[in-house]
Amino acid sequence: MGTVLIIGAGGVGRVVAHKCAQDREVFSGICLASRTLSKCQQIASEIDGDIQTATVDGDSVSSVVALIKKVGAEVLINVASPYQNLPIMEACVQTGVHYVDTSLDDVRDRIKYDYADQLGFGPRFKEQGITGVLSIGFDPGVVNVYCAHAQKHWFDSITSIDIIDCNGGDHGYEFATNFDPETNIREILADVISFQDGALQITKALETRRTFEFPGIGTREAYLMTHEEVLSIAEFIPEVKHVRFWMTFTEKYLTHLRVLENIGMTSIEPIPFEGGSIVPLRFLKALLPDPATLGARTRGVTCIGCVIEGQQNGEPKRVMIWNNCVHEECFAEVQSQAVSYTTGAPAVLAARLVCTGEWAVPGVFCPEQLDPDPFMNAIGEMGLPWQTRNE
Ligand code: NDP
Repeated sequence: MGTVLIIGAGGVGRVVAHKCAQDREVFSGICLASRTLSKCQQIASEIDGDIQTATVDGDSVSSVVALIKKVGAEVLINVASPYQNLPIMEACVQTGVHYVDTSLDDVRDRIKYDYADQLGFGPRFKEQGITGVLSIGFDPGVVNVYCAHAQKHWFDSITSIDIIDCNGGDHGYEFATNFDPETNIREILADVISFQDGALQITKALETRRTFEFPGIGTREAYLMTHEEVLSIAEFIPEVKHVRFWMTFTEKYLTHLRVLENIGMTSIEPIPFEGGSIVPLRFLKALLPDPATLGARTRGVTCIGCVIEGQQNGEPKRVMIWNNCVHEECFAEVQSQAVSYTTGAPAVLAARLVCTGEWAVPGVFCPEQLDPDPFMNAIGEMGLPWQTRNE
């Protein structure tokens, strides 16, 4: 039907390219672009069929505009780093191309947690008749759609949502992050913003923990964390009073992280170094294993889902909805581990729904603002089936 332009050739970009290539009816043309051409060429060489590759600087609106025009893209899937979201959205508006991403935009050297800048593109997308779907990875992404589905089909009102995330996989390294170390470490060490009793609450990083039973993995302690979807779900799911995000970490991971933090290696403040300056966290990133290379080594299962409480027909109700994803199966299919797989597959489905018309609503949206039905009907076929239990 049309050409998809994928920007970003990391772990998630690999999954997106493989998944688009499995859906040639919708994505008749595919171009994979990043700053480093060799990364794109490596991924393209793993995939049967024609995939164009290109270099692009996602920080530069004109660079993205030129590439969109050159390949004649119908939809752009942005899986570069969160710093590129705003320039790439601007390029999409200027060229009239649908837009999909997997993370909240970020501005270098500052942590922010609201979608105002990205949702602010809404009127211009609407005017152009194009759709922007924001943060449609797994969390944020699929979990937002789970909430919209629960709201539409299972509850008269929702009071509480706990998003829970356990990566039960093991890559065998002493310390590595499953996705961009800069994003990952900053989000773990940041003050925690949660939504409790109808208001934002701020607590210290790694201070609040709770035990959950993760289907397919077992009982684990999870830590309250800031995560992008907390604020958007609190805004777009009516009446909800509590929205919290919980993630598990192994003791080994936390010990490494504490040491790195104590010696200043997780700071994003530049420090003078040998006549120049370096940002310690970026230097640390250069030392750590590239997340895109973890797939072949990782064994085990992820469990990500939501525990949702509310009322239906005047009765209290509590439902858990989740997906289990097996690292080895992901690697066999697309040569990536489950963290990249669970992020890339939903983004491809969102792009497909926009191209086929089911999510082609002009404007810019967080996932929970769109009709959950076409997404929930198809996400299982994309490799991420959901399960539920009443609690
Ligand atoms: P990686 O760091 O592995 O890959 C990012 C890619 O983007 C690299 O190939 C990088 O390579 C490229 N890139 C970086 N800057 C630019 C630029 N200015 N222009 C063009 N390309 C650029 O990240 P992941 O693949 O793990 O993650 C991709 C996105 O998915 C991130 O935004 C991340 O936050 C998000 N994510 C979302 C999750 C969710 O569940 N919602 C979970 C995990 C990740 P190069 O510059 O060399 O070309």
